[in-house]
Amino acid sequence: MNIEKTYFRPQSIGEAVQLAAGHENDFRYLAGGTDVIVNKFQETETSSCLIDLTGIGEMRQVQTLDHCLSIGALVCLDELKNYPVLAVEFPVLLEAAQAVASPVIRKTATIGGNVLCENRCSFFNQTEWWREAVGYCLKCKGDICIATGGTENCFSKFASDTAIALISLDATISVLEKDAAYVVPLEEIYTGDGIQPRKFNKTTLIKSIEIPLDRGFRSVFKKLRQRETLEFSSLTTVVTTDRQGKIKIVLGGVDPKPVVITGKVGDDPKELIRKAVKKSRIVNNDVYSRQYRKDMITVYLNNSFEALAR
Ligand SMILES: Cc1cc2nc3c(=O)[nH]c(=O)nc-3n(C[C@H](O)[C@H](O)[C@H](O)COP(=O)(O)OP(=O)(O)OC[C@H]3O[C@@H](n4cnc5c(N)ncnc54)[C@H](O)[C@@H]3O)c2cc1C
Repeated sequence: MNIEKTYFRPQSIGEAVQLAAGHENDFRYLAGGTDVIVNKFQETETSSCLIDLTGIGEMRQVQTLDHCLSIGALVCLDELKNYPVLAVEFPVLLEAAQAVASPVIRKTATIGGNVLCENRCSFFNQTEWWREAVGYCLKCKGDICIATGGTENCFSKFASDTAIALISLDATISVLEKDAAYVVPLEEIYTGDGIQPRKFNKTTLIKSIEIPLDRGFRSVFKKLRQRETLEFSSLTTVVTTDRQGKIKIVLGGVDPKPVVITGKVGDDPKELIRKAVKKSRIVNNDVYSRQYRKDMITVYLNNSFEALAR
């Protein structure tokens, strides 16, 4: 097992990005550690340097800015419920956060870490011993995708629940790199490639997440999993409408990136649902079969449209 050789705990964003630039090829940012540290134990994460972000106070703030709510990347999932504005404007985000893992994990897990949680697959999230016995898959330096029986593309599934809710709310993220700071829609950072699921370079740091206020969002959230706690998603769906009549369907757990379908009030929901099912590249890499998860997309989205119509 790889033992961390270096550990830093910067006190400012600038310091963190500088440290990252100095260790570019061999480090990981550490927030709550509920993904990184588990992956280290399973040896799917092998960086020898950890840059712990938890000393950076400015990344813990929740504040109202011009027409948006800004949530610092280090805000823990459990803390979100302490902000009444969320319950009023974005209850779906609270619901998604409460659907992550377990109460203890949510007290440590951050929202920034959640939107960057590593993609998952039943042939990847195993011990080194298990992966070696089965033959390594594409995501851990093997030649082929075992889940699909031999393709050369990785279909590890997108795992973050809050990202699905945030994308449905048109959230953007404020990011910093060594020589740049910019804002990007959250849905644009995901590649669709299961091996490298994000467009970020390794030093990119998420400072905060911004969600537009006063859009009159109404959402329905659903999550399929084996137990009502601890389990990662086998399928997460959110349907959100706004006051202007925009409809946004976002799916997680059924493709290497969030599946996004947009429409407007008056569109035939059945047609939007059909598009969502067609766009999802589901493979047999989960406890539930590919066909069952595919069928459940239609069930969940039908139920969501019915709930929104009531
Ligand atoms: C048993 C168990 C069940 C789980 N169930 C779920 C679930 O149901 N749904 C779900 O979505 N997740 C689940 N998780 C995964 C994980 O707990 C969450 O995704 C969590 O929110 C990750 O946040 P963290 O702060 O712990 O991230 P970390 O583990 O610290 O980091 C995760 C990734 O984000 C990067 N990172 C963190 N913060 C930043 C930042 N500000 N800027 C740039 N990079 C950053 C890290 O380098 C790393 O790559 C589960 C985990 C466990 C152990």
